[in-house]
Amino acid sequence: MLLLFGGFAYGQNGIPTDYFSNPLDINLVLSGNFGEMRANHFHSGLDLKTEQREGLPVYAPADGYVSRINVQHYGYGKALYILHPNGYTTVYGHLRSFAGDIEKYVKDTQYSKETFEVELFPDKTLLPVKKGDLIAYTGNTGGSGGPHLHFEIRDSSQRPMNPLLFGIEIPDSKKPIVSAIFAYPVGEDAHINQSQNRTKLRMIKQKDGNYKTEDIKAFGKIGFGITTYDQQDGASNKNGAYSIETRFNGSQKFKVLFDKFSFSETRYLNRYTDYNYYETNKSMIQKLFRETNNPLSIITEEDNNGFIIVQDSLQSIYTIEVNDFNGNRMYISVPIEGAKLEILDPKNIEKTDDYIYADHATSITKGKWSIYIPANSLYEDTYLNIKDEGDVLEFHEDLIPIHSNISITADISSYNEADRDKLYIGRLNYRGQPYYTSTTRNGDKLTAKTRTFGSYTIASDTTPPTIKPVNFSEGKWISNQNFLQLKITDDLSGISSYRATINEKFILMEYDYKKDVLTYNFNDNVNLETENNLKVIVIDNVGNSATFEAKFFRKQP
Ligand SMILES: [Zn+2]
Repeated sequence: MLLLFGGFAYGQNGIPTDYFSNPLDINLVLSGNFGEMRANHFHSGLDLKTEQREGLPVYAPADGYVSRINVQHYGYGKALYILHPNGYTTVYGHLRSFAGDIEKYVKDTQYSKETFEVELFPDKTLLPVKKGDLIAYTGNTGGSGGPHLHFEIRDSSQRPMNPLLFGIEIPDSKKPIVSAIFAYPVGEDAHINQSQNRTKLRMIKQKDGNYKTEDIKAFGKIGFGITTYDQQDGASNKNGAYSIETRFNGSQKFKVLFDKFSFSETRYLNRYTDYNYYETNKSMIQKLFRETNNPLSIITEEDNNGFIIVQDSLQSIYTIEVNDFNGNRMYISVPIEGAKLEILDPKNIEKTDDYIYADHATSITKGKWSIYIPANSLYEDTYLNIKDEGDVLEFHEDLIPIHSNISITADISSYNEADRDKLYIGRLNYRGQPYYTSTTRNGDKLTAKTRTFGSYTIASDTTPPTIKPVNFSEGKWISNQNFLQLKITDDLSGISSYRATINEKFILMEYDYKKDVLTYNFNDNVNLETENNLKVIVIDNVGNSATFEAKFFRKQP
């Protein structure tokens, strides 16, 4: 065994701690860490800062081979996966480009398939890498809000793991911060200070930097939740804590630990956090208890699902301990006086005609609208507020989470046959505009699938996209330019696809949806003439098509 493992150190659970080196040749500074809470998911890796710029070299952190390449407009943008001989996969996201043979392989495939988006699984002999090889350049592609490298380590079951477990060191001398604490009465007769609703507790700072809350009078089955973040040295970013542990009168109640999770469970974040609070306050409360339909594996310890039972006339103490990866720790204690009191602020539940049993499939028809809610789309039995207002369907409010797709179907038989092709179902955004929801048409029925409550409308998009040149104009010489750029936009349903040719030959154009820009790189070596005819076709989500044509000249090499 010693010989087999020779040369490597191992930490907890047999995880190698000096196998992977820093994939960047600058100091590691995090703008995001593992497990931190994002909209609808837990963050699955580290976001490494890249000095506010793109194009930093990325080096293989260990030997292995390129096992997957995924190029998408959204999501991870340009992403590279390296499978290492010890079974772990490292992932690099939001890249500007790949390097060397990898870039050539991707470009060749894009040109032969005549498409920008590709997903490739090269076999192990095609693109081997050695530790330290240049593999890519950092960027800001896909759903990235600023230049950085998304770096992930996955186990052999493709579960993302906390990269810090692998010995990657990030200086951190600051305690995690708990910014708010809330109590949730759960039992029928439970209360906190005579309220049956979520109650924010006042925090009092102690001399040692920890906190205690105001004394509360409570009774029955109760849970707690906190908003928390952790900052590392050298950056002001508010990242996630590593573990949270609770105790009641000294005995352990609950623990969450951000070591690893599965992608199949990541959306249960909406069950773990207080969705209603997030939608109204844009801050995520982590609920330190497990409710029904919450299979999250980050909950590693629990007694009575993390709930406490407060008895009349007994004093007790509930404590919360928040740790970062480096062992900096924040304590909060909640002194509780057991008191069965009259309830002055009862649970307020708005009752409606549409009560949904979470574990049943439900069909609802209102006017020209019909809704199909599959079993387990919702986490708990709920009253929904649904109203039809002709072409608008008020489908509750975005204050409760939807786990899996609900179908919304609209009858469009009252529209002229000629107009039906331009219709789609849109969700009204805060400005009242119909944001395209993936819609399919079957005869006189339109169906959209959604995971967000809100108001939906039948919308019509009859305007084709617009296409405008950015850095050239009709009939000009552009011999010294490295790029061709065009701005493409669509007013309502949004851009669905595009295709570009020069002299009727396919050219690869990269679409940056954040800037509405299409870019062609002259280094792609498409054989150009002196006189060239560019043609770009852009199609929106209901099929309106626009064509742009221009002639430009380039000196032959
Ligand atoms: Zn990331």
